[in-house]
Amino acid sequence: MRQIIIGNWKMNGTKALVETMAREVSSRAASLACDLVLCPPATLIVPLVAALGGAPAKVGGQDCDARASGAHTGDIAATMLREVGASHVILGHSERRADHGESDALICAKVAAARAAGLTPIVCVGEDEAARQAGRAEAVVMGQLAASLPADFADPPAGLVAYEPIWAIGSGRTPTTDDIAAMHGAIRAALRDRFGAAGGAIAILYGGSVKPGNAAALLALAEVGGALVGGASLVPGDFLAIAAAAAPALGRAPGAS
Ligand code: PEP
Repeated sequence: MRQIIIGNWKMNGTKALVETMAREVSSRAASLACDLVLCPPATLIVPLVAALGGAPAKVGGQDCDARASGAHTGDIAATMLREVGASHVILGHSERRADHGESDALICAKVAAARAAGLTPIVCVGEDEAARQAGRAEAVVMGQLAASLPADFADPPAGLVAYEPIWAIGSGRTPTTDDIAAMHGAIRAALRDRFGAAGGAIAILYGGSVKPGNAAALLALAEVGGALVGGASLVPGDFLAIAAAAAPALGRAPGAS
């Protein structure tokens, strides 16, 4: 299975970036050995889908509501994202957990809504620095995984998991490659335990200060099925350089070591 490189623009981006990114992606995506997903702010989904045209790149949202519709000012339903051309949605990002107090139970409900609407959820998990220093990183991530994924998560089309240590996001710091490999191995084991063979095929992405300079080393690690990229996804050349570092030669399914 090909690695997946996902860009999370967060609350950044303009129509001008949409045009530049779409132009660069359109000219280079076909030569890449990975799949691309761009997650702009909701207001830019429609223009990005239009600008990408037939380019081999998908578009995703950064959040959706768990409810189908109704009196929920400011919220966006999963079906609305789907209707305007999104195929994916990031859920449970640590910034939403922190800024909006999102619980694992709420994230689980959002994942179910996304799947029901035909979106592929990208579920983020990751420990904060205090948990890492206290030796509790794996316990925190295991707890988030168990409570954020609904029972049908591995049913085709399966969702994606992104391991994003909070302290590595936007900080320029990353865990050691050994620590990333260990966490991805633990996540894989938990997915297999819970979902059986189907859990072995769920892509596990790494996120947190992925840049052109470290992408090749991170993407070469066992059980790393791609990357969730924040800051560097706002610079088309950097995003595509990360994508170019995806590991075609490994030719392994996410999950195969
Ligand atoms: C993110 O927020 O998902 C992220 C990985 O950000 P950055 O790449 O900037 O660390």
